[in-house]
Amino acid sequence: MTFRGVDYFAIDSLFSEQELLVRQTARRFAEERVVPLIRDCYREARFPCELIPELAQLGFLGANLEGYGCAGMSHVEYGLIMQELERADSGLRSFVSVQGALVMYPILTYGSEEQKQKWLPALQSGRAVGCFGLTEPDFGSNPAGMRTRAVKDGNGWVIDGEKTWITNGSVADVAVVWARTEAGIRGFVVERGTPGFATSDIHGKWSMRASVTSSLSLADCRVRDSDMLPGAQGLKAPLACLSQARYGIGWGVLGAAMDCYETARQYSLVRKQFDDRPIASHQLVQEKLAWMITEITKAQLLALHAGRLKDQGKIEPAHISMLKRNNVAIALECARLSRDLLGANGITDEYPIMRHLCNLETVKTYEGTDHIHALVIGEKVTGVAAYR
Ligand SMILES: Cc1cc2nc3c(=O)[nH]c(=O)nc-3n(C[C@H](O)[C@H](O)[C@H](O)COP(=O)(O)OP(=O)(O)OC[C@H]3O[C@@H](n4cnc5c(N)ncnc54)[C@H](O)[C@@H]3O)c2cc1C
Repeated sequence: MTFRGVDYFAIDSLFSEQELLVRQTARRFAEERVVPLIRDCYREARFPCELIPELAQLGFLGANLEGYGCAGMSHVEYGLIMQELERADSGLRSFVSVQGALVMYPILTYGSEEQKQKWLPALQSGRAVGCFGLTEPDFGSNPAGMRTRAVKDGNGWVIDGEKTWITNGSVADVAVVWARTEAGIRGFVVERGTPGFATSDIHGKWSMRASVTSSLSLADCRVRDSDMLPGAQGLKAPLACLSQARYGIGWGVLGAAMDCYETARQYSLVRKQFDDRPIASHQLVQEKLAWMITEITKAQLLALHAGRLKDQGKIEPAHISMLKRNNVAIALECARLSRDLLGANGITDEYPIMRHLCNLETVKTYEGTDHIHALVIGEKVTGVAAYR
């Protein structure tokens, strides 16, 4: 295995044997199954759906959920899986995040027994794929303004509206769709094939090319009463799902940052400029490597502390905002610095850096932008909400 992880500060000593075993399993899967094909997938703008059965078999789908066939792993173990998957590609990690945190989690947390029985074993085993429809063309950072409406009609609901930028949208068998009703925002489980429900893919992306991103259209789309998530009432329900996904992102981006750092470190030892000296011997190059390893180390500790708090049931959304915002920002900067250290070679897909860099631009934006998480932190420390 060529990727051995990054551990400057004996952080591995803080993990249990079981946690290290889970990480090793995910690392081997990424190395052996994802890395060999991901460059071509990215070139072809293709999601490697052939990997779904293996992701399921390894227990990675809904890994930190309990029951209905889920692996019931700890949140730290789940985080380490996200890290290793995103070391390979953010698109693959996004698939797993959406399936587990944004589709299985709301069905498990807010769903009826019938919905759980129908969907959770299928989603866990990869027989079904899910997507999460919250964002709309005119409402991204402010989902509270959503226009999608569900109107009561007999023993069901009629949904009208449009969702966009939806990961897995056109490959999903089931969409968790958020809509405004007379009684506030509610979640609905909409099965593919429901009349009035259609998807179309977003093309021309320079980021997340190995991930499917779609728009969902709901036009006079009729669902049954039993398709509403009974326990999800108000915007706090989708926001709680986002907290689950953001937690995973806080770990995932560490994988991308480590891959960029390690690629640049190794390159700097073999690339020679000026008097046949490796560029690693130049002070300015070392300063960049020192910045990266320092920030990665701090981000590792933040992720681990978040995971331990989450395992104890003590984490707050504002903690997760700091984790997501900080770790995405340093990962993006690591990608930029690594690209710089590889010179011209840094712009090609012979190396993973430019792919990570482009992917991380999405990760900065989705699941709450950098700005929005700054405002969450700002509200936490001042008591004043500054979103408007
Ligand atoms: C590849 C990809 C996959 C995605 N997958 C999903 C998915 O599966 N499901 C889903 O529902 N959504 C998904 N999204 C959508 C994503 O969550 C939104 O893009 C995100 O919430 C930001 O919304 P927006 O793009 O409309 O930007 P906007 O909200 O228009 O923001 C634009 C800029 O304005 C800033 N801004 C906005 N309001 C404020 C404010 N009050 N204060 C300061 N700055 C502000 C933002 O920080 C940003 O810099 C995905 C997006 C991408 C790119």
